[in-house]
Amino acid sequence: MPLDYAKLGLKVGLEWHQRLKTHKLFCNCPSKLKREEGKVKLERKLYLSESELGEIDPAAEFEKIRNRTFIYHVFRDVNCEVEADESPPLDLNKEALEIALTISLMLNMQPVDEIHVMRKIVIDGSNTSGFQRTALVALGTNKSIVQTTSGSVKLETLTLEEESAFIVKTTPSLAEYKLDRLGMPLIEVATASDIKTPEQAREVAEKIGMIFRSTRKVQRGLGTIRQDINVSIKGGARQEIKGVQKLELIPLILKNEVKRQLTLIKIKNELKKRMVREKDIKNNVYDVTEVFRETHSRVLKKQVEKGGVILAAMLPGFKGLLKQEIQTNKTFGYELATYAKVFGDVKGIFHTDELPGYGVTEEELKKIKKILPCKEKDAVVIVAGKREKAEKALKAVIKRVKMALNGVPSESRRPLEDGTTEFMRPLPGPSRMYPETDIPPIQINEGLIKKAKRKLPPQPEEIIGQLVKKHNLTYETAKELFIEDKDKVFEEIVEETKVDPKLVASTLLNTLKSLKRNGVDVKKIGKKELIDIFKAIREGMAAKEAIPNIIAFLAQHSDLTLNKALEKLDLVPISMEEAREIIDSIIKDNIHVLKRKREKAVKIVMGEAMKKLRGKMDGKEVYELVREAVESKLIGD
Ligand SMILES: [Zn+2]
Repeated sequence: MPLDYAKLGLKVGLEWHQRLKTHKLFCNCPSKLKREEGKVKLERKLYLSESELGEIDPAAEFEKIRNRTFIYHVFRDVNCEVEADESPPLDLNKEALEIALTISLMLNMQPVDEIHVMRKIVIDGSNTSGFQRTALVALGTNKSIVQTTSGSVKLETLTLEEESAFIVKTTPSLAEYKLDRLGMPLIEVATASDIKTPEQAREVAEKIGMIFRSTRKVQRGLGTIRQDINVSIKGGARQEIKGVQKLELIPLILKNEVKRQLTLIKIKNELKKRMVREKDIKNNVYDVTEVFRETHSRVLKKQVEKGGVILAAMLPGFKGLLKQEIQTNKTFGYELATYAKVFGDVKGIFHTDELPGYGVTEEELKKIKKILPCKEKDAVVIVAGKREKAEKALKAVIKRVKMALNGVPSESRRPLEDGTTEFMRPLPGPSRMYPETDIPPIQINEGLIKKAKRKLPPQPEEIIGQLVKKHNLTYETAKELFIEDKDKVFEEIVEETKVDPKLVASTLLNTLKSLKRNGVDVKKIGKKELIDIFKAIREGMAAKEAIPNIIAFLAQHSDLTLNKALEKLDLVPISMEEAREIIDSIIKDNIHVLKRKREKAVKIVMGEAMKKLRGKMDGKEVYELVREAVESKLIGD
């Protein structure tokens, strides 16, 4: 049954983050990602003073508990002393500011009079300095609206900020980052929490994304766009789902989140019915290693052999609730396991809703229940590992279980590939900001705005509409060309070769992609190569069916000219007469088989014919010839 999101009070706000195609925001290093690890590594620890944090922020406290070491990979060609926090920042990148102003104007937002760079405290080590620099560029007015099919959504702020460092590895005691990404310019556009359905969220994201793309000044590819989604329902709590990269996942993520909150509320009500109170949930952790001395559970046995312990805690009245599914294929027990993983760095947990199983026997369970001791309605969670880690993990589980009495805790969550999410850390309080004293304020005067207005790119719908009209494309094809930033190259190729625009579009959008999927290095085939291929087709030197073959061949033999490649591939188109002769000889050679399998004759001949004619003639034409030939040669007699 579809959910009534209005009735559930679904509220969603988006924060769109987009990396810009210009050098870094506060130094002149190029915005280039490195594939490899850094040769030089820095090690830092973060010291938080109470005064810097004011009242203790739950997320800050979380990091304090973890007291982590941070390791940073440095790259000589894309890092300088600014990223290493050994030198003050340079002036704000002017090109980045111009792009930010352009986008503000395209979104009908009001640029501020003066830009103040601020420091926003970050505690996870994702910035070497312990803060992220951010600058408000424009504010929403009542004209700053994204129109969707189900109502309008207001835009609130547009900020220019520096990208964080890329996380390589994280454990509760250590986090490792690469500094190549740190400092890249990033624009964040935040909407009001006006979004009311999962589909509308996707629509808004897509529209904002298209505006960015029309500037042609944004980075492309995986990771260059990410959205944070703020979401809540009535009776639930606000979550921040951080870093969603694929727009098409947004509706699914939101549907899962609504289901998760609804189920957590249901669990809360069930616990109330069972009269479970917070004081019933004890912090006691029991060492049950002895019970598993002779266990057949490989997981537990391995931990004990490595010198670890097995600890257990009782969850009074929780029986049956841990196997409750709260997101697609994820139970409440899984939710508890993520707390154990994040806080205790253990691999996972076992709980009695899924036991006996995994090699743990009924007998062993009985012994544990006796030690704790627990009653019929209680559940037990078991964690194995080094004592300190296992203890932290189990305490985190108990803490999370207590939160279940209040329903939904506010969290920062990480999106997963299947559209579900996972606990990352408690939701931070409002960010604490301080002025960046190293950078003077920047005036946004009329001149700057006028300059940006003069250079304003057309709106996305205008660009797409033009493509449709001029080249007789479908709206979807035109939109895809634009979104993939292939519309310019498309127009140049069509202009130069005068071949069918639809053929050019489908080569750019489909053929290249499927070849890439099949391992062809399509990067070797640029605009020039494509123009040559289309010209060859226009001049009848190859059939259009041969395009994938030609591209694949050229990508592999970049030393060959197109003419040589066509010769080698034997793709010179042949005449109808030649094709007929080939088909006739196929029939002649196989006449006995064909007479026996008359009803399959066309199929058999077609298969053989395509082996010889693929790439030289349109498949539909071959089929017609085959059908004709079979009819006259077989049916006729
Ligand atoms: Zn730098």
